[in-house]
Amino acid sequence: MESRREFLQTVAATTAGIALTDGVAQAGPPTLPGAPAVHPPEPEEGRLKQFWNETVKDLVTLPTPQLTPAEVERHLIYCGLLSSLVVHYWNGNKRGKDGEYPWRPKQQVSNKQYQGGDYLGHNIACLAVDAEGEVIDFDFNHNEVFSSSVEHAESRLIRRIFSLTQINNGWATKGIMAPAAPTTYSNLLSDVTVYTSLESCSQCSGIMALGSVKEVVYLHRDPGQNSIGNILRQLSPEKSSFKAPLPIPADVLGFNAFTELGTAYERFAKEVGKTPFFKPTVGKPDTSNSITSFLCTDLALDIFKQAKQDFDNLQTVKYADHVPSTDDGKPVPNALTNQRVLEHARAFFAYGSTEGKRGTPHQM
Ligand SMILES: [Zn+2]
Repeated sequence: MESRREFLQTVAATTAGIALTDGVAQAGPPTLPGAPAVHPPEPEEGRLKQFWNETVKDLVTLPTPQLTPAEVERHLIYCGLLSSLVVHYWNGNKRGKDGEYPWRPKQQVSNKQYQGGDYLGHNIACLAVDAEGEVIDFDFNHNEVFSSSVEHAESRLIRRIFSLTQINNGWATKGIMAPAAPTTYSNLLSDVTVYTSLESCSQCSGIMALGSVKEVVYLHRDPGQNSIGNILRQLSPEKSSFKAPLPIPADVLGFNAFTELGTAYERFAKEVGKTPFFKPTVGKPDTSNSITSFLCTDLALDIFKQAKQDFDNLQTVKYADHVPSTDDGKPVPNALTNQRVLEHARAFFAYGSTEGKRGTPHQM
């Protein structure tokens, strides 16, 4: 039987991360008998139980959304509006205004001076649309404004929408006749679709899940987020009304920029070691393959500009009279038709690009 002294030696060695064999320290994992496993016990029921012995691929794979052409057309209008806002507020000066950005020659206004001014945050925007099809508001990443790594577009927007529902704002979720203080907030956003220009991180996916947002359409995949939105959705209880939003990658809508952004980012990540993202006047060049650096480059800007151009060129819609349906198949009361959605999106861009300044709380 192990003596008390041997046991204490084992505990001390395990705490230090060293295994003992016959009292001799060996390299390797801790071997304290009865040490708790690092994973939780296998659940007896629920979604986690269903995936317990499945592959990670099974966990991140969601069924392709079944959308009618009219629904796709509607989504694409908002994707075009969001791209237009991204272009309008583009600012690639992530490492400051002084220095050289070899990936941004088209944004150069004079020798080593680039368009954009003070950097407010990354070029990542999102907007939220209510059940009727009205845009509630938009927001941008504002990490730099707040010197914080958590001021992401989606989390800012969700918090803002909850605050908007406390007042009768012109872009309010439930119309101007709604009571100023909602009687319930837990499912207030359950008909809201968020459109975001970059796949959401764990913070934003979590906030959208807590907010019971219906779905999130993203224009560009972020490989660094490990498909966390898919995982949260997959693990949401099937019959609960409190589900993580359904993630919809915009390539399933036929949004060309989605694949183009992915390919361009791969190129940037591969070549940035040789061609730095930024060369300061003094000090080491920045060769990081950060996706937010990519989102400053001409490569990325050109793709968003093309998406804006496609939106600007859209004069008519094929499914002009289409309105969305409720879960029981009835038309959503007071919903905008696709034709009205297009007009509304243009009106919102006029608002968003003039009144709704980036870096401020927006107001009419
Ligand atoms: Zn985020």
